[in-house]
Amino acid sequence: MLELHRLSKTYPNGTAALSNFSLEVRAGEAVAIVGGSGCGKSTLLRLIAGLENATSGIRRVDGDEITEPHPKIGLVFQEPRLLPWLSIEENVAFGLEGLDITEKHQRVYAALRSVGLDHQGKKWPREMSGGMAQRVALARALVVQPSVLLLDEPFSALDALTRSRLQDHLVRLWEETRMTLVLVTHDIEEALVVANRVIVLKPHPGRIDDMQEVSLTRP
Ligand code: ADP
Ligand code: ADP
Repeated sequence: MLELHRLSKTYPNGTAALSNFSLEVRAGEAVAIVGGSGCGKSTLLRLIAGLENATSGIRRVDGDEITEPHPKIGLVFQEPRLLPWLSIEENVAFGLEGLDITEKHQRVYAALRSVGLDHQGKKWPREMSGGMAQRVALARALVVQPSVLLLDEPFSALDALTRSRLQDHLVRLWEETRMTLVLVTHDIEEALVVANRVIVLKPHPGRIDDMQEVSLTRP
């Protein structure tokens, strides 16, 4: 589970990007954080990912303080960020350490199967379409079996049809695995499709009541 308590970030230039943001995400929840440009979504995500220091506040995953990129947090960015000199299976295996080769292979192919790409492991990033590459990025995040999967505008660079297919795929994956998801997006429709809890981040930091929460029910 993910705990954020009164998290604040003021950049060195004085911009208060996030102020007293609190959120608890329980295991198995699919939470979307939506808001317009500049409201602090990227900042919040970078704080959760441990890519940025907080000015104040508490961040924990499964009880561990998040101070640097944490192995229990899987990350998917807007761009797939695949390494072009590695095959698809090698890209997915990249973050796996300390496993023997058989176990590694099983984990990589289980992750590729979960995104429907288990026949593409020997291919190269340049052979992938945008949607396939993003599914590889999803497999690479899943292969480490994270407690929380963080998705930063994961589908916004894709065409509408591919985007909608990948959203459906993510929903099915969530229904099967009940993994904990935190999706950051400016797309309210995407939030409604993918999440069962939507947090609206308002662009006026400084007041805790700027955060509104809407609960949706999905079995
Ligand atoms: P969003 O992702 O919702 O567009 P950001 O978290 O990127 O919002 O930005 C929130 C605010 O913080 C904006 O005013 C933005 O200009 C500012 N900001 C973001 N990153 C930095 C930075 N590295 N230094 C200074 N200001 C920043
Ligand atoms: P993205 O939203 O693609 O993750 P960034 O987080 O780098 O991109 O930047 C988000 C916003 O923060 C942008 O509007 C950008 O202009 C602003 N920003 C980023 N770095 C700085 C900075 N050092 N000073 C002021 N604003 C910044």
